[in-house]
Amino acid sequence: MPATLKNSSATLKLNTGASIPVLGFGTWRSVENNGYHSVIAALKAGYRHIDAAAIYLNEEEVGRAIKDSGVPREEIFITTKLWGTEQRDPEAALNRSLKRLGLDYVDLYLMHWPVPLKTEKVTDGNVLCIPTLEDGTVDIDTREWNFIKTWNLMQELPKTGKTKAVGVSNFSINNIKELLESPSNKLVPAANQIEIHPLLPQDELIAFCKEKGIVVEAYSPFGSANAPLLKEQAIINMAKKHGVEPAQLIISWSIQRGYVVLAKSVNPERIVSNFKIFTLPEDDFKIISNLSKVHGTKRVVNMKWGSFPIFE
Ligand code: NAP
Repeated sequence: MPATLKNSSATLKLNTGASIPVLGFGTWRSVENNGYHSVIAALKAGYRHIDAAAIYLNEEEVGRAIKDSGVPREEIFITTKLWGTEQRDPEAALNRSLKRLGLDYVDLYLMHWPVPLKTEKVTDGNVLCIPTLEDGTVDIDTREWNFIKTWNLMQELPKTGKTKAVGVSNFSINNIKELLESPSNKLVPAANQIEIHPLLPQDELIAFCKEKGIVVEAYSPFGSANAPLLKEQAIINMAKKHGVEPAQLIISWSIQRGYVVLAKSVNPERIVSNFKIFTLPEDDFKIISNLSKVHGTKRVVNMKWGSFPIFE
């Protein structure tokens, strides 16, 4: 018998007390018309959580779609992210994001990566880029700046009312420990957004965040561009067994693991079907949870940040 699918409606609580919908809509690579139309379609399908970032270069389209959707602002949870070249002045960066989004506030503002980038070689004032050195490596700013200094500034932002909460992204256990143990720390990040899927289950980092009261958000659940995870035979077979789409299987498994999952699509039918989830029986849940032990782990978003130890 096929599984019973239902719209995703659950939420989790952030350490601020605010609710965050467990299924968020991703907007990376959804530029221009794709950004606008996919966000409109997502809000129409029932998503109430949109994940944006300054570096996705589509905040204007995302913001316009939010406005044109007719869904009241207060019903939508909106995240955007601070880019590496902006780490020395997060408030100015947040102001620029809000202006592009056409919003008075976001619900969550994340440090996109724990790596500050230099701005000396940035041309035309366009900080939304990846500055590189002559040898092609990323021009990082770690000798003069670091993520602790950035967090010191970010932790003051909720007081401005321009974001309801602040958090981090792509932080390892060591980086979170360093942040929490720094003498200047006053605030535990509300969230840590990281890559998680059946071939990168991140058990240890998830458990650590949970212990610290940090909500985990899973990005690239299908393995990002071209969705390689949806072509894994074990995923296809399990989805067939339950009469669901491979994407619905992965989203349902993610939600069942107790964190937020962010799924991106620009395809109207997939946007609707990705919103429908089901409960996996315990045995099958365990099979998907153990997939990386059988097939090995695979990280798809593997940015090289020079000498910075990112995923140690
Ligand atoms: P993803 O959601 O894992 O996968 C997107 C890919 O899956 C696209 O090629 C999409 O194609 C395809 N897809 C979606 N639904 C499908 C379905 N039902 N059947 C077949 N194919 C399907 O990748 P992602 O965009 O990397 O991750 C999700 C979101 O997480 C991002 O958009 C972004 O908001 C966030 N993120 C954050 C970070 C970070 O550093 N914090 C990094 C990566 C991602 P179509 O669009 O053609 O459907």
